[in-house]
Amino acid sequence: MSVPHAAAIYSGDYHAVPLSHDSYHILDPDDFVASAVCWPGNTEDVSKAVKWANKWKVPIWPLSIGRNLGYGGSAPRVRGSVVLDLGRRMNKVLDVDVENAVCLIEPGVQYVTLYEHLQSIGVGNDLWIDVPDLPGGSVMGNALDRGVGYTPYGDHWAHHIGLEVVTPTGEVIRTGMGSMEGSECWQLFRYGFGPHQDGIFTQSNYGIVTKMGMELLPNPGGVRVFMAAFPQYDDLHEAIEVIRPLMIRKIIGNVPMVRLGLQDASLYKTRDDFELDERGVVKPDSAQKVLEELGTGAWVFYAALYGPDDVTLAKYNYIQEQFYKRIPNTKFYQREDVPENHYLHNYARFTTGIPTWRELDRMKWIPNAAHLFFAPLSANNGKDAGRQAAMGRKRMEEYGFNYLGTFFIGTRAMHHVISFMYNRKDIAEKKKALTCIRALIADAASIGVGEYRTHLALQDQVSKTYNWNDGAIMKFNEKLKDALDPNGILQPGRSGIWPKDYRGKGFEL
Ligand code: FAD
Repeated sequence: MSVPHAAAIYSGDYHAVPLSHDSYHILDPDDFVASAVCWPGNTEDVSKAVKWANKWKVPIWPLSIGRNLGYGGSAPRVRGSVVLDLGRRMNKVLDVDVENAVCLIEPGVQYVTLYEHLQSIGVGNDLWIDVPDLPGGSVMGNALDRGVGYTPYGDHWAHHIGLEVVTPTGEVIRTGMGSMEGSECWQLFRYGFGPHQDGIFTQSNYGIVTKMGMELLPNPGGVRVFMAAFPQYDDLHEAIEVIRPLMIRKIIGNVPMVRLGLQDASLYKTRDDFELDERGVVKPDSAQKVLEELGTGAWVFYAALYGPDDVTLAKYNYIQEQFYKRIPNTKFYQREDVPENHYLHNYARFTTGIPTWRELDRMKWIPNAAHLFFAPLSANNGKDAGRQAAMGRKRMEEYGFNYLGTFFIGTRAMHHVISFMYNRKDIAEKKKALTCIRALIADAASIGVGEYRTHLALQDQVSKTYNWNDGAIMKFNEKLKDALDPNGILQPGRSGIWPKDYRGKGFEL
């Protein structure tokens, strides 16, 4: 074990991710801080650490890599917890089953290392991974937080297959077919026999996952990416109405996205390139000028079509027709239509499972930039998307932030991820961001809109918005917590679930 140096509490960024705290701190930097970091080398070590924590009643906080930036980074919720940094030594790709396109990994396998591993064993062209915006995160950690990427396997949790878990009292279990001695189907059939437990280990504090199976995407024989730009802010409604049937009927096969033109522009420009109003918000005229210069629109849509060229061309032509019927002045771009630095080229890499670091360009928007994500779920329809965008924009501008929203589009619902970019050295700005996001959570809940994932500091508030039948779900979660973790040592407070000894003792925020 090592004790982190106090002076380092303010440090870190995406490339130099600290293990003791959140480098994108939104509270006081020393609020969510670990007292020590421990590096287990295998499942047995994890089990030993858990038993030690039970003996001394010390809270522990597992990380796979700790790059959960925008949602709490590597910070533990309870100050003084011991961080179990699984990623440092448990970082192997344990198996790749090429015929069945599936692999078995440890927590420290990053997207970029899985990609490199597949290349190194000569199957990188046949088996693709799904990368999120940035490839430095853990394939396991991201799936356990139910993160999203861009290919047809963009719902990461949906493509995991089989877990090994150390329970909060130190026993080791395997789920699905892994629970049967000698089964060869652990990574082939996810359910096994009896209750299916896997879901309770996501966004929870019920176990530490030490191995996970993950499906790999077989090369579909071609990818065609395109961007569509919609000129008017109000086009969002019609755009989503066009996209929904294309998703449900699987004409578009990946997780496409619609994002605000200004959010797109923040990859190429800094806030200083725009004229700001007295609140610090980009003036609409100034935004319009830059969007025209960049050849984009008020909203832009990025999507990928998979299969041989003639198949994707037929789909592309059909999709264009659908948009032209409802938004006649939509502009379409393929890779050959855009300059070399255009994001569409990076998008082509994402959607082919090739890591890129392009998203970090956004960090130049303001000095000392940090992200805080507000991430409500939206129905896949124009009405919900429109009201959420309007709600986000109104509230954020009131607090002097630009609404920078993206809809990641699933088959029937969308993750509406809104980025608060704030200067992490500006205490007043941090306070404003936190107050604003708290107001947004309340605004959203008042119309039945809930977050799919949230920052550590906001998990109590968000969990309370899931309040059907007098908060029956939290009562159930607490029952499970008390049964599985009687000493309350594992990640107290994660997702608003507090062990019995902590409840009502002033830990909630
Ligand atoms: P970790 O930080 O290791 O873990 C995430 C959570 O799971 C933590 O709460 C941790 O306690 C818990 N956990 C981890 N491992 C275990 C385990 N083995 N057992 C039990 N619990 C565990 N996210 C996306 O999903 N998609 C994106 O496209 C995306 N883009 C981003 C862009 C930017 C600019 C930034 C700043 C962030 C982005 N994120 C995105 C958010 C985040 O960076 C990623 O989700 C990242 O993969 C999460 O960090 P990690 O993988 O290192 O997981």
